[in-house]
Amino acid sequence: MILVTGGAGYIGSHTNKALHNAGYDTVVVDNLCKGYETFAKWGNFEDYDFGSKDLREVFEKYDIDGVLHFAAFSSVAESVELPQKYFKNNYKNTLNLLQIMREFGVDKFILSSTAAVYGNPEKVPITEDQELKPINPYGHSKWITEKALEREAQKGDFNYVSLRYFNAAGCDFDCEIGELHDPETHLIPLVLDAAIGKRDSISIFGTDYNTPDGTCIRDYIHVNDLASAHIAAYEYLCEKNESNIFNLGNGQGYSVREIIDMCKKVTGRDFKVDIADRREGDPDILIADASKIEKELGWKPKYDLECIVSSAWKWHQKVNDI
Ligand code: UDP
Repeated sequence: MILVTGGAGYIGSHTNKALHNAGYDTVVVDNLCKGYETFAKWGNFEDYDFGSKDLREVFEKYDIDGVLHFAAFSSVAESVELPQKYFKNNYKNTLNLLQIMREFGVDKFILSSTAAVYGNPEKVPITEDQELKPINPYGHSKWITEKALEREAQKGDFNYVSLRYFNAAGCDFDCEIGELHDPETHLIPLVLDAAIGKRDSISIFGTDYNTPDGTCIRDYIHVNDLASAHIAAYEYLCEKNESNIFNLGNGQGYSVREIIDMCKKVTGRDFKVDIADRREGDPDILIADASKIEKELGWKPKYDLECIVSSAWKWHQKVNDI
């Protein structure tokens, strides 16, 4: 049985569905502070906080072999405003989970990490061995969590894979689950809000970055690609007695303006675009070198930007009832 923390959230629910389709038994643990119970319909569901001592009850009830840990806060902007909230939930509460895993002899762990651990990288595409210099509390909270896992693995009888996601986007092709944050802060769903008429315009946060068109460049990866990478990483942990760290991205960068153009193309709608100030904590360019996971696990992403935006648009139309 695999324990999926945060399995009622965006990336966790897509991975839980993929695990189920691949024949794995799962138990989702989610306190529903961000997730939706309807997103956790595959396998078992338990309403617990992963930072709570009561989480032991889940380990008593189910025979857990490994943990996929998605539950976390993930807004860069909010982390700048409320750093303690991020360090407490993303770091301290993960230590609680690790302690309970140790007590029950559960030795396989996959962390949802992030490209935000790199900060403003020295070179792009970014390889996993680049120095980690996070420039916002969100990235920092994941960086110290990776360090805690590294130390835990050094003690023995425990292995982990840290998956550093670049920009997760897109939705389930069956439209059963999708991206539904409240409040929404991510670029693609916000642009689609403008396309569908839920907001008057989309604001570009800064046009004076060190990029060809002045707007930030990111590497967008389909959430189903992230899901299949988790399964590959879990199988690796089952086969090999070692830990590892991998980037998960497409290796292709798109600027904010290019994302807006792709959304206009896919939706066939036009909308107003305005220029706003920079958002604090945003690096200029984040593009993955994802060749390590391809070389070591044989995994590579399948879906391109147009497919990402099309799947997100289909979901967006469904949830907005149009
Ligand atoms: N962004 C923007 N307008 C918005 C939301 C986001 O210009 O309304 C920019 C943001 O500053 C960043 C990029 O879009 O450069 C991607 O932001 P998002 O929040 O989707 O992901 P992040 O890279 O922060 O994880």
